[in-house]
Amino acid sequence: MKRIAFFDTKPYDKLYFDKFNDNYEISYFEGKLNKKTAPITREYDAVIAFVNDDIDADTINILADNGIKVLAMRCSGYSNVDLRAAKDRLTVVTVPAYSPYTVAEHTMALLLSLNRKIHKAYNRTRDFNFSLNGLTGFLLRGKTVGVIGTGKIGQAVMEVLGGFGVNILAYDPYPIDDESIHYVDLEYLFKNSDIITLHCPLTEKSYHMLDKDAFDMMKNNVIIVNTSRGALIDTEALLHALNTEKVAGAALDVYEEESDFFFEDFSGMVINDDMLSLLIAHPHVLLTAHQAFLTDDALETIAKTTYNNIDDVLSGEKCKNEVVYKSREYSKK
Ligand code: NAD
Repeated sequence: MKRIAFFDTKPYDKLYFDKFNDNYEISYFEGKLNKKTAPITREYDAVIAFVNDDIDADTINILADNGIKVLAMRCSGYSNVDLRAAKDRLTVVTVPAYSPYTVAEHTMALLLSLNRKIHKAYNRTRDFNFSLNGLTGFLLRGKTVGVIGTGKIGQAVMEVLGGFGVNILAYDPYPIDDESIHYVDLEYLFKNSDIITLHCPLTEKSYHMLDKDAFDMMKNNVIIVNTSRGALIDTEALLHALNTEKVAGAALDVYEEESDFFFEDFSGMVINDDMLSLLIAHPHVLLTAHQAFLTDDALETIAKTTYNNIDDVLSGEKCKNEVVYKSREYSKK
């Protein structure tokens, strides 16, 4: 039986990967994959990893030297993998489309909660505080939403948004052939949107695409939603824009330095990240911890697709979900 080393395991991962496992012996490790933990992969055939594992060149080299044939990301993004180092050493596969509507619905949940202050109301009513002061939202109908990235999730978001009677502006360097989508350039989108939602990957080009210059261009009281990748936003510039009330609110499922914190319980501990502390304490920020993917449908598809990907690579078949190095890929290192 082929062996898989599974990193950054959470109880919900194990549940779904056990349920659909017919072929493999799996060792579940709670720790993240990085150059310190990679040495334990000796005698395994495949590795399953996640968004906040640190899969730099050192980690890749250790995996390859240990004979790992396939690094299976159980997520769609792979900006944490040094694809250049992986080239010719091991095959990297992802789950490109496990459930775009899962992420789209969380995007809407964040936007509606932030606007109608559901998170604040929930805390108040639990305390028998039925005052409505400070809970005023705005009407979504008739507002203009700028959607950045019109891939699988961006399209699902636009479809769901359609039911709210909003106007949609879209930006994507690779627009799709669909006349119903109103594509504009990025500057126009920044200047004319009441709400901006990010659905593009993190690349060298998109890194900090929302920076000080971008915020300066935006309408006053714009709402920012990011369920994509944290480093699409310059957090310091966002905090400044929030404090000067250029940005009226930010709904975030991702944070550029999330890998040290997200998916773990730090309650009662001191968080050594001032920017994250400022975001969480900010009255106009609603933050979830990279949770947009978390539905039972998505977890089932992630498990099944990851096994199919590994089956393909280990049996020598071409895997349609392989990702290969392109010189424009973003690498933090
Ligand atoms: P996708 O590949 O289907 O679509 C991405 C789109 O972004 C493409 O149309 C591409 O042309 C466009 N794009 C590329 N560079 C761009 C740029 N600089 N500016 C604007 N658009 C650009 O990907 P998807 O499945 O729609 O996923 C989008 C992103 O959502 C992923 O990259 C991932 O980071 C994120 N994601 C987050 C979660 C979560 O749990 N929070 C879950 C899944 C995916």
